[in-house]
Amino acid sequence: MYANVIIDISHEKLDRTFQYRIPERLLAEITAGVQVLIPFGNSKVPRKGYVIEVREKAEFDPEKTKEIIDVVRGSVSLASQQIRLAWWMKERYGSTMNQALKTVLPVKQQVRQKEKKVLKCLLSREELELAVAEAARKHYKARERLLRAFTEMEEIPYEMVTGQMNLTAASMKPLVEKGIISVEAETMYRNPEISGSGYKTAVSLNPAQTAVAEDFKNRYDQGIRETSLLYGVTGSGKTEVYMEMIRHVLAKGRQVIVLIPEIALTYQTVLRFYRQFGRQVSVINSRMSAGERYDQFERAEKGDVTVMIGPRSALFTPFPKLGLIVIDEEHESAYKSELSPRYHARETAEELARMNGASVVLGSATPSLEAYTRAKTGQYRLYRLAERAKKDSHMAKVSVVDLREELKRGNKSIFSVQLREAMEERLKNHEQIMLFLNRRGYSTFVSCRSCGEAIRCPHCDVTLTLHRNQHLKCHYCGYEIPVPPRCPSCGSPYIAGFGTGTQKIETMVKQVFPEARVLRMDRDTTSQKGGHEEILSAFAEGGADILVGTQMIVKGHDFPNVTLVGILAADLSLYSSDFRCGERTFQLLTQAAGRAGRGEKPGEVIIQTYSPEQYSITCAADQDYDSFYTQEMAYRQILHYPPVFQLLTVMIAAKEEPVLDQAAKEMRQWVKEMEEGADVELIGPTEATVYKVHDIYRKILYLKKKNYDILIRIKDRLEEKVQEQSWNGKVMIQFDFA
Ligand code: ADP
Ligand code: ZN
Ligand code: ZN
Repeated sequence: MYANVIIDISHEKLDRTFQYRIPERLLAEITAGVQVLIPFGNSKVPRKGYVIEVREKAEFDPEKTKEIIDVVRGSVSLASQQIRLAWWMKERYGSTMNQALKTVLPVKQQVRQKEKKVLKCLLSREELELAVAEAARKHYKARERLLRAFTEMEEIPYEMVTGQMNLTAASMKPLVEKGIISVEAETMYRNPEISGSGYKTAVSLNPAQTAVAEDFKNRYDQGIRETSLLYGVTGSGKTEVYMEMIRHVLAKGRQVIVLIPEIALTYQTVLRFYRQFGRQVSVINSRMSAGERYDQFERAEKGDVTVMIGPRSALFTPFPKLGLIVIDEEHESAYKSELSPRYHARETAEELARMNGASVVLGSATPSLEAYTRAKTGQYRLYRLAERAKKDSHMAKVSVVDLREELKRGNKSIFSVQLREAMEERLKNHEQIMLFLNRRGYSTFVSCRSCGEAIRCPHCDVTLTLHRNQHLKCHYCGYEIPVPPRCPSCGSPYIAGFGTGTQKIETMVKQVFPEARVLRMDRDTTSQKGGHEEILSAFAEGGADILVGTQMIVKGHDFPNVTLVGILAADLSLYSSDFRCGERTFQLLTQAAGRAGRGEKPGEVIIQTYSPEQYSITCAADQDYDSFYTQEMAYRQILHYPPVFQLLTVMIAAKEEPVLDQAAKEMRQWVKEMEEGADVELIGPTEATVYKVHDIYRKILYLKKKNYDILIRIKDRLEEKVQEQSWNGKVMIQFDFA
């Protein structure tokens, strides 16, 4: 047996591994992550290194391969932990060890350590309130936002102000000059006590919240480490409960990771945590440079930061004594990585927690079927919060409008009569409206009115999407052309854009309600840094009457003045090829409905749909998760989909179609001939939904089986066999566990 050993464990040096023979006496001890002593170069002094992989075959001349001297025993280092986690990810998701290590290890960067700065407010309480009022009167939105935040806390980290709050250095300058705020260097700060830096004290938890928090704390104190699911309706106060749990774990001298999907990671959310835990909190997001992230991770490792908030990748924060991982909006698809290793944050968090003796808390108003099934079968501890936390806020009244009936009555507009009347009423009362477009599969493409052909990407099997600047763009490969004056197929000049994007809806809203102030939020309007925050803040601050948007608008912000949510075409996401589309539709509609009536005024939700009887829609309208769960599980059971069965998707891709066909057929045959493959359900090979991308053709094999380990073994055997084929090298293979 041989071990690949790395001496300097860092992202950049991963390719520099050395192979050593494992002596008999050490065989049992050596696995990925173990630290070993090895002879190195001509030096007489042995060096320390980490085993990253164990192999049966020697890569070089076995005669010349040196032997491992010994295992370094004792405490398990962080690097060992990281390697072990990477190993687990490699095994679980079928990537290479290198890909897994690159995911787990931060990119080290030789950046000059930037000085951490904080903003402080120099005004007295009364002066501050006057300044807020003045900023509001003068419509200095950004300034108002900042000053308002100071009414709740004394200091705010500089990066948060330029990041999540979206202020520029230039806009802060006059405030500094007038002596309203000061920018100060954050002196090294290692106070282990929790230092809420606010004027505002924590809310006192209501009885339902208290019951959950107390149970968690008791079990934590008893040394029970487990995964819990906090299933609480939107606005039930889950975040407050997390904070109570976090406080408890921090007080034990341990650290906490909080995962929040990127679109919900607004400054409102971040400030809530900052208000509670002060400078111990750090935030990472995907817009940060590798150096900025590394900086945050380093602070965590040194103990300057004890609560890390961020999207999926925050999971890899190198805390010395991790005690708790919270995953908010646990059902979000963004928790699954699209790059190899295609890991799921929920599962990876559980493994990480197991390695560290930490607990995991999952939270959602619409739990994933996976999580809820585990909670029902006792694998997770289940907590429920059935009511909204604020006394004066109630769940909204929801109604469903059948668009087919509207059409029969001659209404061809995108607004049903009911929705239009409701909108008129809100506008009259100066209340706000959100219009939500369920946009999946709903892109604007250009087609010919003479021959009917749509303009397609020459490299991919998709239509090109029309952008604002009259350019056509491929969302798969980035290919871009100006809209041609004539149809490329028949030469007709009559070509036009089709589809109802958010932009088109914005235009229609303006036609029907010329007086209304409309804001739009979609990929186009938020592509700039901070664009997303800017629009949501403007709306929250009353800068518009109507906000039109895609799923982006349903998360993160509390809009107390929104009393009507209109869902324009609820069923669009039902017709996707993904077996989870019913679940996604239900989640989106429930989340969107949860936006209405957050304040004192009651809320109303109108769902427009062509399939009013479909259970994803009826259950969302009734806000009945349990009934949805039962029906959806029956469907998964009948069709053998997860979580009832495990599903392995094998994507096979090649530049040449005949090679692809051969490889796909052979792989199917191998599975059938394998011992493990005996009663695996095999579907395909079929063409991928988008067959050609970047001039590469793709086919898919689906394998279903209740037992995950068997699928893993099949995957390993397939990988081995591929190595032996003549077409290996011309074919790319990707494994994905659903
Ligand atoms: P969730 O995370 O479940 O959507 P939040 O924690 O964001 O819910 O709470 C929703 C709103 O209710 C927030 O404005 C929050 O400040 C408020 N809230 C939560 N718990 C309480 C409480 N115990 N007393 C008063 N207000 C609360
Ligand atoms: Zn044509
Ligand atoms: Zn393309």
